[in-house]
Amino acid sequence: MIPFLDLKQINLRHQNELLRGIQSVLDSGWYILGKEVEAFESEFADYCGTKHCIGTANALDALELIIRGYGIGEGDEVIVPSNTYIASILAISANNAIPVLVEPNILTYNIDPSRIEEKITPRTKAILVVHLYGQACNMVQINEIAQKYNLKVIEDCAQSHGAIYASRRVGSLSDAGAFSFYPGKNLGALGDGGAITTNDDSLANVIRALRNYGSHKKYENLYKGVNSRLDEIHAAVLRTKLKYLDEDNSKRRTIAEYYLNNINNRKLTLPFVEENELSHVWHVFVIRTKERYKLQQYLLERGIQTLIHYPIPPHKQEAYKEWADESYPLSEEIHREILSIPISPVMPLVDAKAVVEALNDFQ
Ligand SMILES: *Cc1c(COP(=O)(O)O)cnc(C)c1O
Repeated sequence: MIPFLDLKQINLRHQNELLRGIQSVLDSGWYILGKEVEAFESEFADYCGTKHCIGTANALDALELIIRGYGIGEGDEVIVPSNTYIASILAISANNAIPVLVEPNILTYNIDPSRIEEKITPRTKAILVVHLYGQACNMVQINEIAQKYNLKVIEDCAQSHGAIYASRRVGSLSDAGAFSFYPGKNLGALGDGGAITTNDDSLANVIRALRNYGSHKKYENLYKGVNSRLDEIHAAVLRTKLKYLDEDNSKRRTIAEYYLNNINNRKLTLPFVEENELSHVWHVFVIRTKERYKLQQYLLERGIQTLIHYPIPPHKQEAYKEWADESYPLSEEIHREILSIPISPVMPLVDAKAVVEALNDFQ
């Protein structure tokens, strides 16, 4: 069986180093907001090229706290892609703000900058972009629009750790970025984790309090905050794994390039890289076909595991039944046709060859 993602193998590569990190947390006797989190925050800020990084419990909280930190709430509108993982949208709803969906570019699957302006109203406060599947959005165009209308730009970087656009890492291309360290992400902990990156001193300061009950100083509460912290033990794991992130992304890129150069079945649409090779970190490799479930079954019979990111578009979810009558045809088409094939930093090239052969034989 060629697994979609061999997470166990990904982490076992660094077993000894990870165990040393975990042991040092155990030895320290300090488990929340200590030196591991502080060190990881500083190392990840350096990596992304931002002034600040603030650890959180997960990316949904990170996004939610950025929106709240900017005072965006009741009645405010936030532009967000119609083609994304639901968390990007939930973060807006959690602040009682209104998510305004914008259709993707059918080639990149990322938000289509040319469709943003028509959705801006006097109530629009921010554009939340998602670097979907690992590919950086067209930030030049998006930042231009934001500047023209005086909007904040927030990046959802949960799938794009380390992607470089216009010589800068994602998370440093806007007002603030949100990262997920969910185990399956390009940089994954051994449990949930997240972070915010920003160059905005006052936002960083507010979020440091918001994530910790609204408090900078123990038992003094400035805001009605939440408890959303990155744990010491996960920070120790992430410090180790961060050292290998670029190498891992380049291994993903090798597989992706092999796929792009060798899959030649006319029934399949391959992903499109808009900018350059470093702008995509291949969190997933998504192909499209009109016969998605047939292809998935066929691959399974050949021992190849696949997943769908994602089967139901956000506006068709029960949680958003208020959108049931709205139509986002590009997003719907993408959700109907996509299939994610195996890719990971531990995938052997022979497995990639077997995947290519199977795909090229598909009739
Ligand atoms: C995984 C993911 C999230 C949520 O991350 P969590 O850490 O699980 O909360 C948000 N947005 C996107 C695009 C994701 O892929």
